[in-house]
Amino acid sequence: MLALDVVRSDVLIIGAGSAGSVLAERLSVDADRRVVVLEAGPQALPSRPGDAHLVPIGPDSAVAARYPAVLTGEPRREVELVRGAVVGGSGAINGSYFCRGLPADFDGWAIPGWSWADVLPHFRAIETDLDFTGPLHGADGPIPVRRVREFSAGTEQFVHRVLGVGFGWIDDLNGGGPFEGIGALPLNVEGGARIGPGVAFLRPALTRPNLSVHPGTRVQRILFSGQRAVGVDAHGPAGPVRHIAERIVLCAGAIGTAQLLMVSGCGPADVLTAAGIAVQADLPVGAQFGDHPEWVLPVDWPATGGRTPLEAALSVDGVEIRLYTTGFAQMTGESPSDPPHIGVALMRPRARGRLTVHSADIAVPPRIEHHYDTVAEDVGALERGAALAREIAGVVDREANWSTTQHLCGTAPLGTVLDPQCRVRGVDGLWVVDGSIMPVPPSRGPHATIAMIGHRAAEFLAS
Ligand SMILES: Cc1cc2nc3c(=O)[nH]c(=O)nc-3n(C[C@H](O)[C@H](O)[C@H](O)COP(=O)(O)OP(=O)(O)OC[C@H]3O[C@@H](n4cnc5c(N)ncnc54)[C@H](O)[C@@H]3O)c2cc1C
Repeated sequence: MLALDVVRSDVLIIGAGSAGSVLAERLSVDADRRVVVLEAGPQALPSRPGDAHLVPIGPDSAVAARYPAVLTGEPRREVELVRGAVVGGSGAINGSYFCRGLPADFDGWAIPGWSWADVLPHFRAIETDLDFTGPLHGADGPIPVRRVREFSAGTEQFVHRVLGVGFGWIDDLNGGGPFEGIGALPLNVEGGARIGPGVAFLRPALTRPNLSVHPGTRVQRILFSGQRAVGVDAHGPAGPVRHIAERIVLCAGAIGTAQLLMVSGCGPADVLTAAGIAVQADLPVGAQFGDHPEWVLPVDWPATGGRTPLEAALSVDGVEIRLYTTGFAQMTGESPSDPPHIGVALMRPRARGRLTVHSADIAVPPRIEHHYDTVAEDVGALERGAALAREIAGVVDREANWSTTQHLCGTAPLGTVLDPQCRVRGVDGLWVVDGSIMPVPPSRGPHATIAMIGHRAAEFLAS
């Protein structure tokens, strides 16, 4: 039998996604700390003008992972969830909408160290806002943020109609309020290129001799010695490899992290036992995840190519109503033209989903059930939102379909699975830093919040 390659580091980060990219850059600032990042997907292509207009998640995508999921029970709606599987993670392939969660979201978590006052400095540190200055905005962070000044014809029409039915204009959706009305979305785009955490944080840090990123390396399970996580077994381009580290941080995203925890024995004891996995720590991993449901409503307006998928959004009564500049097939590059649609997304859903594993093999996809249709208040809010969207769009005869915003989060929340400093409860040497940690979904798209989480948590890992 061949000897297994063993690699040692001080901090081992699993997943070079939105949070992992920020965390790796922050921790490797200390030249005495050896940081290794393992990423299942390939090295990202360089970001270039036009990137931000495409969401490269079509069926043949080499940079997306797919997971079957059930959104609703009656009628049963089965979909494929998509995640970026590439250096840069989902932030390298997403819609470039980069809007912070609201102050009340963080204060509502009631987790020590995560109030709005605690997280604001980290939101500021990750960005350079090219439109606004002042105490709420960053001036020298790596991620550029700007809003569209000249909307596409469709967005222009959408904004005009929203204002026409009496809603107010919000100058700055990352500002101090109001939080209801319509505004131009903050976007992490410069010169038409998507500038996510992989490009802005991780790539410039790759020149540091104490940081190494291993693409094409999929972690299969976490290794424990007693109650302490000591390493991982992975499969890389050259075959099996073992990584041993003082500190192990899961940044594999809300699906990947939950699956890794569970196949390694950290999860609900009944789920693990049924899957034939020995229990290391009985924890409610995957038990109560959140995701923003979206009802999709076709409209007859013309598509505008060469634009980010979204340019403006109306927030009202807990829903976000937004006009996509094209249909999904055009967005993903599968079709040269596809008519746009309006999305009605529920941003403070009460329904909670469940993610479970039924095998110890990381290659077997987890079971993901959203239970979107289980809470009457959620369905009522979506119905009211869809009625308003029909009024705005001037269509009366169109059915809305259940869909998802692809914002699944909260599979390993602060408070229950994690302590306030992102340490997995009941074991030593193991942290989670990604979208899994949010106790409830933020009231806006999660990307800016997850990048902030990488920056915030670096302080915990560095101490
Ligand atoms: C198509 C799409 C569009 C979106 N658009 C927007 C938007 O416009 N605005 C917004 O706010 N949000 C958007 N989101 C959501 C947002 O991009 C994600 O929530 C966010 O990027 C997740 O960050 P993360 O760090 O938690 O995980 P990710 O960025 O997904 O990173 C996880 C990384 O871990 C790697 N990994 C997983 N398992 C393993 C393993 N076993 N071994 C090694 N590596 C592993 C993955 O390959 C991946 O690179 C979108 C999501 C999708 C999928």
